[in-house]
Amino acid sequence: MKIFINQVPAEGLLLEEEIKPSALDLETELIKFRSNLKVRAQVSRGINALIVKLDARAVLCASCSRCLKDFEWEFDKKAQLSYSLDSSITFIDLNPDIREEFMLDYPVKPLCSEDCKGLCVKCGKNKNEGGCNCGST
Ligand SMILES: [Zn+2]
Ligand SMILES: [Zn+2]
Repeated sequence: MKIFINQVPAEGLLLEEEIKPSALDLETELIKFRSNLKVRAQVSRGINALIVKLDARAVLCASCSRCLKDFEWEFDKKAQLSYSLDSSITFIDLNPDIREEFMLDYPVKPLCSEDCKGLCVKCGKNKNEGGCNCGST
């Protein structure tokens, strides 16, 4: 997503764009995408600066670090960015910052739910799906 400075009116601008995750190299070993990235950017002018209120969403997929099951969730990242301007700058490319903001909030240990019970250490059964007969808790 690029913002051309001379296209930003005094009253500001709302930009919307769908970006492919591959275009931003957003997938990791752990985190996969199930949708495109939907980005809204509310752009306004400051004094020699551009203020961008960013709202980026996507459906992500990961394996739960406790029960190993794949799960999806909606990731919604809001951030406010500001860029100082001078006469040499004609546009701003938001993509590197969008990428950074997104990856900052990736879970280190994804969990399908806060109280995921994980797997039985004896038989490997997913304890979210009911008890097993091992008697382990
Ligand atoms: Zn889990
Ligand atoms: Zn068991």
